[in-house]
Order: sequence, then structure tokens, then C-alpha cells
Amino acid sequence: MRNLIFLCSLCLLPAALYGQQPTNKMTRGIPAATAPGTENWSPLSTEWYQPQPAKVTPGTGTKPPSDAIVLFDGTDLSKWESASGRTAGEPAPWKVENGELKIVPRTGAIRTKQYFADCQLHIEWKSPPAERHNGQNRGNSGVFLQSAYEVQILDGDDNPTYVNGMVGSIYKQVAPMVDAYTKNGEWQTYDIYWKAPRFTTNGELEAPAIITVVHNGIVIQNNYILKGTTPYVGLPNYQPHGMLPIELQDHGTEVAFRNIWIRPL
Ligand code: MG
Repeated sequence: MRNLIFLCSLCLLPAALYGQQPTNKMTRGIPAATAPGTENWSPLSTEWYQPQPAKVTPGTGTKPPSDAIVLFDGTDLSKWESASGRTAGEPAPWKVENGELKIVPRTGAIRTKQYFADCQLHIEWKSPPAERHNGQNRGNSGVFLQSAYEVQILDGDDNPTYVNGMVGSIYKQVAPMVDAYTKNGEWQTYDIYWKAPRFTTNGELEAPAIITVVHNGIVIQNNYILKGTTPYVGLPNYQPHGMLPIELQDHGTEVAFRNIWIRPL
């Protein structure tokens, strides 16, 4: 019995040392055999069985993971509303055609009804025909995390513009590490991993936002630390906020979207 109690206490030791969310830090930089007080540790000392991670079925093809919140599945805009001035909160003014969500130019941005902070966001989009437009006027839209931090959407097919405003940029802050755009008219995929900024109860910035963006399977932003919001004019800045909607920009061109889902983290 005494041995059993001893073994049980060894099993609980990591949780006691590292709280309710044990990590594998114990094997990093501190040789267990030489760390003070670890002389009698066994392999069991650094293994735990609870809590069990939730089981999630991965998505296949266009199907999202089993625990994702589907924001657009090709049928309707029930998860979205207008984000534009006087019509904010009213039904989203964009259209659904052939399973695609299309911007109706100059009707304004739309936003999710649900609020988010840290998240994994999957979104596919397609530039409209280039026509005579160039630079920032060709296929411009954007994904705004927490309604304030833009990952640029732009037609990147032979369309020069300032690089910190090109497709895949964090608008006016940083260019993408590489240009992963394919061709005008082809679907593009963004997988965005977002860590929201943290603010103290006094409203001071405690930790800036961090973003990773994968464009068509290629990392184009790698844990970039944001300087703040992404204004067209002026410098980035942080204003304290909590959870907020995901917003999609209307910049006057008919960008299309499909397969939008999100996993709050
Ligand atoms: Mg934009």
C-alpha cells in the first residue's frame, strides 16, 4: 500500500509542479537526473494521462474539421451581417451565387455575427477579371481579424503595387515572405493562425497580436508580431478591445469567397 501511494504521488508530481496544463518543458535544458531533488525520479515522473485532448476529425478536401464553426458553406449568409456605417447589424448585402459568396461592390464590409479572439481561420477567395484595373484597385478585399487587423486580398497576377500592400501583406506593415499567388481567376486559400493582442485592465498593451498566414499551402507570414491596427493613412496603433467579429472588406471589386470556417483557439 505504501508503495502504491508512493507511485501515485510520483504520477501527480508533474501536475503539481506544472499546474493543470503540463508541458514537456521538463526535458528541455534540465537533465532530470541532475536537477536538484530529482535523484529518485523514474520515467513515470514525467508522464501524464489527463486531461485527454478532445478528439477532432480532420477535414478532407473542402470538408472542415469536425469542431470547426462553418461561416460560409456555399448556401447562405446567415452567419454574417453588414459592418457598414448606417446599415451595420442589418442583413449582409453581398450575394450568394453558384455556391460562392460575392462582394456587391460599394455596399460595404460584412462581418461575422459571432465574436472571436485567438483562432484558426480558413478562407478561400478568387479575384474577379482584371479588366482595366491595376494596383490597389484590382481585386482588393481583405480579411480583418477582430475587425481591425487586415490580411490583404489583392489580385497578385502581374499587378505591381507597394509590397506592404500586396497580396498576403499585413496591410501597410509587412510584405509577405514570398508571393504565393497563382493566377487571376484561380481560387486562393488562406489559412490564418491568429493570436489576439492582450491588454491590461488599465487598457495598456500587454502582448501584441501575432499572426501566421499560409497562402496556398505556403507560409507567407511566420509568427509576425503586429505593430497595431492596419490603417490606410497613419501609423499602426493599439486600442484596447476584447473579442470582435471577423470582417471582410468591400473595396469596390467583386472578389468571391467560399469554404470559410474557423476554430476558436
Ligand atoms: Mg484590402
